[in-house]
Amino acid sequence: SKVLVTGASGYIAVWVVLQLLERGYKVRGTVRSEDKGEYLKELFKEYGDGFEFVIAEDLEKEGAFDEAVKGVDAVLHTASPFHFNVEGDPLGKLINPAVNGTNNVLNSIHKHGDKVQRVVVTSSYAAILDSTKPVPQTFTEEDWNESSPANVEKLGNRQEGSDAYRASKTLAERAAWRFVKEKGTRFDLVTINPPLVLGPAIHEVHSPDKLNTSVANIWNLFHGSKSDGDLPGPAGCFVDVRDVAWAHVESLSNQEAGGQRFGCSNGKWSWQDASDVLSVYDRIPEEWRKSVPVGKRGGGREVVQNDFDGSKATRVLGVKYHSLKDCLEATADSLVDLEQRG
Ligand code: NDP
Repeated sequence: SKVLVTGASGYIAVWVVLQLLERGYKVRGTVRSEDKGEYLKELFKEYGDGFEFVIAEDLEKEGAFDEAVKGVDAVLHTASPFHFNVEGDPLGKLINPAVNGTNNVLNSIHKHGDKVQRVVVTSSYAAILDSTKPVPQTFTEEDWNESSPANVEKLGNRQEGSDAYRASKTLAERAAWRFVKEKGTRFDLVTINPPLVLGPAIHEVHSPDKLNTSVANIWNLFHGSKSDGDLPGPAGCFVDVRDVAWAHVESLSNQEAGGQRFGCSNGKWSWQDASDVLSVYDRIPEEWRKSVPVGKRGGGREVVQNDFDGSKATRVLGVKYHSLKDCLEATADSLVDLEQRG
């Protein structure tokens, strides 16, 4: 069967497309430019006509996805801005593309996606974690971020970048559930809600300063972003990109998944935990290793911070999480590759 993946050029989406092709699906990806599509054609050339791309430049343009949804059996909607550069306009830069984009894609499917049975939306832990709640606690799929959307109401375009991003994900996910309920769509909905996603980058990255937001954290660690004083340092929760891709692909065909949210998380980590792995990792250049503060080995266990339970994704979707060590080492390997490619 054939699956449409929106934002196919993104860090997570490229892994999703790869795993779909490996499992024998045909994939149509939407991208914003011909160049990005050609990069993917080349990356997936061994799958022949298994992968095709179409251009959809503007998430918010009405009808932008009308043609793309025709003839596909399912849609994975991953496209959404993930950065904190709001330039004084969080509504225009983050919230509107996320929310209107989601409604727009769903509308095209509702009108023109006659064969679509299931839609999977890439949401986020950002739509679950409410940073105004007392720490520590364990968040689950039952929880919603109430505070970031409230700040949109209160602050409008004065909202700060990372909170506006969290609001964009919360409001977009809410819009998706509302759409399905109110329109009585023939398709059902699944959301995948990952925390910070790390792991190898196989999407097109022109230079390290253009790295996607989550992996940039590790590049920056190798280039002096943290010092001893920042350790042990609560870092939130994490998951490997390969596991996030698995959850997306599996939720397409899993009957039980319909109508559900899935936290896709391997739990909390700290910068000390990262240091324990990366300050001794011998496959990275020595200068990078030296940029990682050493702190106090094992001290990550003492960090008090929230957790995010990803066990439902294991139970229902069969996700087997990569460990933090595997995930960070694979991230580091891919950054070495990126550096060597120039
Ligand atoms: P990327 O920035 O690599 O991917 C984002 C994708 O969305 C790209 O394909 C990008 O296109 C597209 N996109 C962004 N803004 C627009 C826009 N205004 N109009 C059209 N397309 C747009 O990040 P990720 O792969 O990390 O993110 C993918 C999804 O996963 C997002 O929904 C994000 O919120 C979510 N997510 C990510 C997490 C993470 O830690 N990485 C954690 C939780 C959720 P282009 O390539 O042309 O820029």
